[in-house]
Amino acid sequence: MANSDDANRVLASCVECSSVYAARQWPDGEIQAIGNDGCSCGSTDFELVQTVDESSAGETGAE
Ligand SMILES: [Zn+2]
Repeated sequence: MANSDDANRVLASCVECSSVYAARQWPDGEIQAIGNDGCSCGSTDFELVQTVDESSAGETGAE
């Protein structure tokens, strides 16, 4: 119950500047960058790039 297993680990890109962040996507579709309230450019809108398999999460571009 302590795990945040309701949220999927994803890669998300800022809609303003296309910076890519590790993020979580919640069941309601909300995408939230991990460790940040939003992008460094000030935007808080992200779009899904790729879903991350938690069992093999680590490096980007791993398949
Ligand atoms: Zn940005």
